[in-house]
Amino acid sequence: KKPLLIARDLKKYFQVGKGLTLKAVDGINFHIDEGETLGLVGESGCGKSTVGRTIIGLYEATDGEVIFDGMNLNQLNKDDRKQFTRTAQMIFQDPYASLNPRMTVTDIIGEGIDIHGLYEGEERQKRIYDLLEMVGLNREHASRFPHEFSGGQRQRIGVARALAIEPRFIVCDEPISALDVSIQAQVVNLLEDLQENLGLTYLFIAHDLSMVKHISDRIAVMYLGAIVETAPSAELYDYPLHPYTQALLSAVPIPDPTIEKSRHRIILEGDVPSPINPPPGCKFQGRCKYAQDICKKETPELKEMRPNHFVACHMVK
Ligand code: SF4
Ligand code: MG
Repeated sequence: KKPLLIARDLKKYFQVGKGLTLKAVDGINFHIDEGETLGLVGESGCGKSTVGRTIIGLYEATDGEVIFDGMNLNQLNKDDRKQFTRTAQMIFQDPYASLNPRMTVTDIIGEGIDIHGLYEGEERQKRIYDLLEMVGLNREHASRFPHEFSGGQRQRIGVARALAIEPRFIVCDEPISALDVSIQAQVVNLLEDLQENLGLTYLFIAHDLSMVKHISDRIAVMYLGAIVETAPSAELYDYPLHPYTQALLSAVPIPDPTIEKSRHRIILEGDVPSPINPPPGCKFQGRCKYAQDICKKETPELKEMRPNHFVACHMVK
């Protein structure tokens, strides 16, 4: 396997006035292999959407590097940048907000095709019909408007729009969080089928570990701008090592009531603290029952504790 995308010490800070810096992404390292799905999980406000936007160039990184297929995104010239925008696409959480209500499905899907000059006339229309079929819709839907569709169908339109320009990499930013539970599995299955047929690579963002288990090959857990643990999906569920991951996992319901009853649920006090001027050391210190002095002074680095399983915690030995 070879990495399609590598993020090295990536930072994205926002100035929020009066010398205050919001450290949304504060020095993270990860890679995504070609054809792989990396799940990125954390509570809202932890910086996961900012990661998604920064690695596809919607935000300019404050520091650090994103290497995509061997190219450093900071060093692209204008032509390379346009080519890259075609290669990397995004699917958004809220299909209601991300589809222009005044545009027909044909116009929504056709926009990227036109910007990149891919198809014209009848070929363009045929491509749009093909895309609708790929996402489980049909040509009857082409002349309709977003409000005529259900939430799941709108997300399918969002997927067709992303696929229209033949990307290799898609950031799926909480694509199922706003959907009914009954619809979520359908959209996940669709994304998996498309990945297999088209050789796509995904970053799949979610706020809850139950949503990423099925689709992810590996999972990265994020807390307050930092990645605290990464592991292959099954490994992370079976051997969560970071105290934050353990707490997140203990909140995932288990269908078997006998196991569910005997389980120890870890309740975290409070919310994720503000990422504005965060304290030094481990970002999780304020909510961690294992915290020691060193946790307040030194930032823990990701270390490989089991094969392919990286943890950033001073107390995991
Ligand atoms: Fe808790 Fe310290 Fe580990 Fe952070 S480094 S998770 S504060 S034990
Ligand atoms: Mg988000």
